[in-house]
Amino acid sequence: MTQALPGEEPGSTPEPAGGQWAVADLRITTKALPEHNRVRNRAMLLQTLFHEGPRSRADIARGSGLNKVTVSTIVGELIAQGILVEAGQSADVRVGKPATLVAIDDDSRSVISLDLSDALSFRGAVMNLRGQVSHQRDVAMITERGDAAVARVVELAGELLSEAPAAVLGIGVGSPGMVDRAGVVRFAPHLGWFDTDLRGALAERFGVPVHVVNDANGMALAVHTFRDNDGRSILVVTIQRGAGAGLIVGETLVDGVDFAAGEIGHVVVDPRRETSCLCGRSGCLDSIVAVPQMRRRLGAGEDRDVVIADAAEALGAALAPIISVLGATHVVLVGPEDILDEGFAAGTRAHLTERTLPTTTSTISVDIGSDGGLLALQGPLVAVLSAELGIS
Ligand SMILES: [Zn+2]
Repeated sequence: MTQALPGEEPGSTPEPAGGQWAVADLRITTKALPEHNRVRNRAMLLQTLFHEGPRSRADIARGSGLNKVTVSTIVGELIAQGILVEAGQSADVRVGKPATLVAIDDDSRSVISLDLSDALSFRGAVMNLRGQVSHQRDVAMITERGDAAVARVVELAGELLSEAPAAVLGIGVGSPGMVDRAGVVRFAPHLGWFDTDLRGALAERFGVPVHVVNDANGMALAVHTFRDNDGRSILVVTIQRGAGAGLIVGETLVDGVDFAAGEIGHVVVDPRRETSCLCGRSGCLDSIVAVPQMRRRLGAGEDRDVVIADAAEALGAALAPIISVLGATHVVLVGPEDILDEGFAAGTRAHLTERTLPTTTSTISVDIGSDGGLLALQGPLVAVLSAELGIS
């Protein structure tokens, strides 16, 4: 946690947090220093209620190490804002009268989530704080590029905002390519975006907080928050028009010095292979595992087992050194169901086993991320939850 917390003076009343957290800084697990206190304590309290369900004020104080007065003050503010509600009495009565439970009202805020990962169609949804979709809109066949593509994003966000049933906490966007922490898409060639201020365009138009993340990083956030995981490193690998990866180590999203962490598509996995790639080289991961490339081979009548085994070997070769560096890792593969099946996952697992020490392999798991479409929408949601409420 190195991020400064602007605008937090002792005694000031925190508004709905307003982007104090960098998306990269995930769960708040320690008690705050005095200079950080209220926003950070509020985040810790919300985080507890989000993951552990309704609690009494006394239980929150016990679990967090915050004193009871602080807990009551924060709970009071959040109830006034409608984010928390009182939720009945505790059944666990030891001494005295039963305690009143407080809970997050999942429907108290709406979040607009946009998934641009496909680059050919944009998807958007209105979600509640729990990641449940109430409205969804898809825009098929995006042909625009550059500023015109930004205009389509703004249009889609506007339509979803008009359908939001509750006050809007923010807009989250999962974009392909390299995205910096200011929400500028540095490089997304499929959409013709180079240093494109996507966050600025949306924030200026709608006046609500906007958070833009790389699509694969977003999916790693979604797995971290909404799927079972045991706290090991999470490596989400997306196989779409190219291969991408989102990585969480400990409680930190790794986005890299130039926001290019996870751009594994152009790792050369076999320099002797004569596969040509957009980047001008041969034997890149993308040139072997990209979905259009695999579908082309299948369409030309090649044996499915051979095509899948080929891709799984290339992916295993690219991932083995990463996993060896990280140690215990949970790998989640996300992509279209006609390509990413159990055979693909088993093949990847087998090649990882072949290329790493048994001690490494025994601590990794390789799973297919079921419902990648929902993960792709929940990722941008977590970017908003994390930045605005400290929940992830
Ligand atoms: Zn390449």
